[in-house]
Amino acid sequence: MSDLRGRVEAARRKPPVRVTFVTTLPDRRLLLVHAHPDDESIGTGSTMAHYAAAGAHVTLVTCTLGEEGEIHVPELAGLAATEADQLGGYRIAELAAACAQLGVTDHRFLGGAGRYRDSGMMGLPTNGHPRAFWRADLDEAAGFLLEVIREVRPQVVITYDENGFYGHPDHIQAHRVTMRAVELAEAEGIAPAKVYWTAMPRSVLEAGMSHFEESSDNPFAGISDATELPFCTPDEQIAARVDATEQHAAKEAAMRAHATQIPATSWLYSIAGNFGAEFMGVEYFTLAKGTKGPGSGPYGWESDLFAGLDSADTPNRIPVSSAGQR
Ligand SMILES: [Zn+2]
Repeated sequence: MSDLRGRVEAARRKPPVRVTFVTTLPDRRLLLVHAHPDDESIGTGSTMAHYAAAGAHVTLVTCTLGEEGEIHVPELAGLAATEADQLGGYRIAELAAACAQLGVTDHRFLGGAGRYRDSGMMGLPTNGHPRAFWRADLDEAAGFLLEVIREVRPQVVITYDENGFYGHPDHIQAHRVTMRAVELAEAEGIAPAKVYWTAMPRSVLEAGMSHFEESSDNPFAGISDATELPFCTPDEQIAARVDATEQHAAKEAAMRAHATQIPATSWLYSIAGNFGAEFMGVEYFTLAKGTKGPGSGPYGWESDLFAGLDSADTPNRIPVSSAGQR
């Protein structure tokens, strides 16, 4: 009896075992913040597929369900915002199918599906909807994104420029929310090393314009100068050119998964049929935050968004919690 008591006492006196739980993430982590389902595929589909295939952890955050989109599938016309208002839910499935084509498995909606609603084009009454992303409280929305940053600790973040690439309110808001979330992450010491914005170099747009000059399906019809396009960026301001031509078919398949948004007859696909690998597979970015890594060509364009990053600066073993246990 006394022996048993002695052993119990001895066990009590043992120091507690410290257990630290860690999650081990892939070495390279990329976070993309997009406004609507389909933006990821059209704007950055090849880059996403390229890094996913290379073993990087690719996280996509989509800010709205795209409820206000047009519907190019006649039998689904009744889903429109002005009819059954079911398009947003339907687009969740389209987005899932697109991500599957891109090999991207980590996809979330900002604040959860349906938290923010598609605001529609600038100036429309839909901008004022109580859940319109355009009206979102910046810190609240950035807080949702910060939670994702805490979890996946991306070294590289991609979003749009201040004008949201082309001026759509939800794209502008995605920019603001992302930059605010990065600021909050900085304050916590977990800032991503680099933030990129999507862009199109002037030289590429000019080449496209001359290519399509004679085409009946000219996406540049009515534009005489590339600089008229809001996303036209001087070549010297481009920081990175991601050549993911090996993924151009994945990007096209992902775009086709957004069938309500992109008609099968779209010029996007006729371009794909022409100089498709180059048009579909090469994507460009400006660097908004961080230090540009080594590059090449007249403007030193990086070919890798992780260029110049030291893996020692970006630990992939993240302590989640620590507990004392007997
Ligand atoms: Zn969009």
